[in-house]
Amino acid sequence: METTMHSTQQGSLDVLVLGGGPGGSTVAALLAMAGCSVVLCEKERFPRFHIGESFLPYNRPLLERLGVVDQIQAMGFQRKWGARFVFEPSLESVHLDFERGLNPRIAQAFHARRADFDHILLQNARAKGADVREEESAEAVLFEEGRAVGARIRRADHSVYEVRARLVVDATGRDGLMGAQLALRKRDPKLRQAALFSHYENAEMGLGKEGGDILVVGGPFGWFWLIPLDAKTTSVGVVFPGQLMAQRQGRDLESFFAEIIASSPTVSHRLRDAQRIAPVRPAADFSYRCSAMAGDGWAMVGDAACFLDPVFSSGVFLAMGSAQHLADLAAPRLRRGQILRPAEWRSYQRFLTRGLDRFRRFILAFYDPAGSSLLRSQPPEMLYSAAVTIFAGKVFTRDPRIWFFENFFDMAAGQKRREARAGKADLGQPPASDAMNVV
Ligand SMILES: Cc1cc2nc3c(=O)[nH]c(=O)nc-3n(C[C@H](O)[C@H](O)[C@H](O)COP(=O)(O)OP(=O)(O)OC[C@H]3O[C@@H](n4cnc5c(N)ncnc54)[C@H](O)[C@@H]3O)c2cc1C
Repeated sequence: METTMHSTQQGSLDVLVLGGGPGGSTVAALLAMAGCSVVLCEKERFPRFHIGESFLPYNRPLLERLGVVDQIQAMGFQRKWGARFVFEPSLESVHLDFERGLNPRIAQAFHARRADFDHILLQNARAKGADVREEESAEAVLFEEGRAVGARIRRADHSVYEVRARLVVDATGRDGLMGAQLALRKRDPKLRQAALFSHYENAEMGLGKEGGDILVVGGPFGWFWLIPLDAKTTSVGVVFPGQLMAQRQGRDLESFFAEIIASSPTVSHRLRDAQRIAPVRPAADFSYRCSAMAGDGWAMVGDAACFLDPVFSSGVFLAMGSAQHLADLAAPRLRRGQILRPAEWRSYQRFLTRGLDRFRRFILAFYDPAGSSLLRSQPPEMLYSAAVTIFAGKVFTRDPRIWFFENFFDMAAGQKRREARAGKADLGQPPASDAMNVV
């Protein structure tokens, strides 16, 4: 093994970003656009497969700021105007129509193959001036006197070198380099889910505007997603309590997945003429959060900091939103040759936690008998608009209408629970999970 020292000495390089997914590419592009020197090390060569294919409307302003909207439009990704939730066995159905949110101008999102979307963002970071190094894997973040000063990087040829920078950004996603190195990652005790997923051709997704919706089917197994990627291809996945993996009992993932699909009348009907065209892949160990998301000389963005059950398609939005906030806090400091101060690490963590907690509250509600019965009900238009706006991604900023809705929702869920205890209401069955009456 060859070990070399990189010529970049601490002080001359502003930012070292580890990981080139949506979080890493966004922070790298924005800091390069702000005049900072940036190196980004990504362990894979892009384009590469990644799960997480359905996006939220409130990501649009950031895509515009990054200057990638034309490239995204040129790819012809499937447009998404809403989401359809179907609950089994009752077959109750709820439609989230983003155009009925509080800001009808922020109403459209899209679905994309992540290989293409992430490649656009990574190339954009390079075009904006970041030094992007693919097939270079970060092995460890380097600390001196408690401050992060760089990272040890392994190239594809196995040679190792060090890069030193004033700010180290961990954007390594669910691999979570710093979360593991500093033992910061804590599993969410109320959301211990796993997932299986693949791609199908010829699933029945409907026509017109609603044909572009993500379909979420909640039921006794957990919940399924059906995401139309284009006219032919649909991404299909199931999220279920992690302990159910034990029921696999040696069977291959393909037959286990087929068996779970067969248990859902809605999903098996949609897939009756469809063919699986990709392997079945698993994901386990979600959700989690790091107890610290920033510190002396370092910060985490996206899945490196936290991961939530993907029922509301929040992951890419949170990754890119956290990256944007970090870049905006760090750029003025780095340009003056300074580093982030403790008050700024704390404010960054508060910002990200606010967005996470907003989504988490409704994820828990989705799995809770009272919360799920409320989500299945038809609320008055004002409350519907506030709910749709949260699910479209307005989670970082304060808005009195959203605050009112959240409080109303909590009160109404409490009321439902009391009625159920008194035998006056049947709450029906929420989708299966490890979450228990936790709203
Ligand atoms: C089953 C499932 C379904 C999901 N569905 C959705 C969805 O519909 N919509 C949505 O928005 N989100 C969804 N997500 C979440 C979404 O995938 C993530 O939130 C999103 O990818 C986070 O972006 P990121 O940049 O933080 O991390 P990633 O996209 O994971 O990027 C991290 C990058 O870091 C690289 N890397 C890792 N370790 C190292 C290292 N040591 N050195 C250098 N590079 C490294 C990786 O190769 C990768 O390219 C889903 C997730 C799962 C598990």
